[in-house]
Amino acid sequence: MKDSHGRVIDYLRISLTDRCNFRCIYCMPEEGVCMMGHDEILRIEEIETIARVATRIGIRSVRLTGGEPLVRKGVVDLVAALKGMDGIENVSLTTNGVLLSEMAGDLKEAGLSRVNISLDTLDPEQFTYITRVGKLDSTMRGIDAALEAGFNPVKINAVTVRRLDQDFLAFAKLSIDRPLHVRFIEYMPVGSSTGSDGSGWDRTDVIPSEELLQIINERAVAQGLPELVSARDDDKPLGWGPARYFEFPGAKGTVGFISPLSRHFCSECNRLRLTADGKLRPCLFSDREIDVRTALREGGEEAVYNCFLEALNLKPDDHHDKVGTERNMSQIGG
Ligand code: SAM
Ligand code: SF4
Repeated sequence: MKDSHGRVIDYLRISLTDRCNFRCIYCMPEEGVCMMGHDEILRIEEIETIARVATRIGIRSVRLTGGEPLVRKGVVDLVAALKGMDGIENVSLTTNGVLLSEMAGDLKEAGLSRVNISLDTLDPEQFTYITRVGKLDSTMRGIDAALEAGFNPVKINAVTVRRLDQDFLAFAKLSIDRPLHVRFIEYMPVGSSTGSDGSGWDRTDVIPSEELLQIINERAVAQGLPELVSARDDDKPLGWGPARYFEFPGAKGTVGFISPLSRHFCSECNRLRLTADGKLRPCLFSDREIDVRTALREGGEEAVYNCFLEALNLKPDDHHDKVGTERNMSQIGG
């Protein structure tokens, strides 16, 4: 189905929980977020029902996210249920990777189509600084496990924050020897994320993708490497969405740039979001939400269907550089 601006909406991101085993500085405050009560969170069966109704408006792909989706009990069975649903073609996952070393095989068997792993630095100390509690090794083991389980593509999502001075070339080089698709994402003004360690979005922290491409190429040349070139369509990972892809000649993977701020992709936006507490969110940057949980509990499936119609109607044409949202990324479902 199309929204009121003529865009086909076929993609639903489902947040399974607002909880997380990390506390990334750009995503949630140090003390964590005020956890949702048991009854506020959608039950797994409720998520299944909402997804089934979503197929009626044309949703074909779902992505499980959070918080950390792999800490939610029942996630493997949910993947299997969603994958078996008429109308659903792809079920994918965004994770910090920590639990993949024990779960990748089961997720693959359950029918998970694709996995994105978030990783912002290859420096162990910086990793612990950014995640506040995480260990680089745990995420690296998760990446190995995803490749071993046969996931293809495996995408690595790195948020770029100027003041962190990440080693972007080291990151891009991850794509050379293994079929990893590294994607750099501009730091987005979502939530308040105000840690005592000075975290919090600031426009000067955004590195526009064009500038980043130039930085990586300059550093590559300084190390005797070739520059990145536009990726051939055949080499781009499936489900390429809003990223622009490049590659080092002969590399097994690619390097992508996702530019929600410097190059809005609102006109191609095909997604809706479902928060863990059952709110349908037509746009990441808008706090307008539709209470699908109450609709389901009090009105049943037809009421849920009407929520989807309302979401299609309310989806804005563009985020117009709006800065800040009431809820953090971990609560909305990034
Ligand atoms: N915990 C999982 C993970 O980290 O992959 C899934 C949820 S997390 C909120 C989803 C994605 O949102 C991650 O890739 C994370 O880096 C990204 N993210 C969180 N806050 C962000 C921000 N302010 N700007 C850009 N990306 C952000
Ligand atoms: Fe957790 Fe993901 Fe947010 Fe990091 S980005 S705090 S891993 S939800």
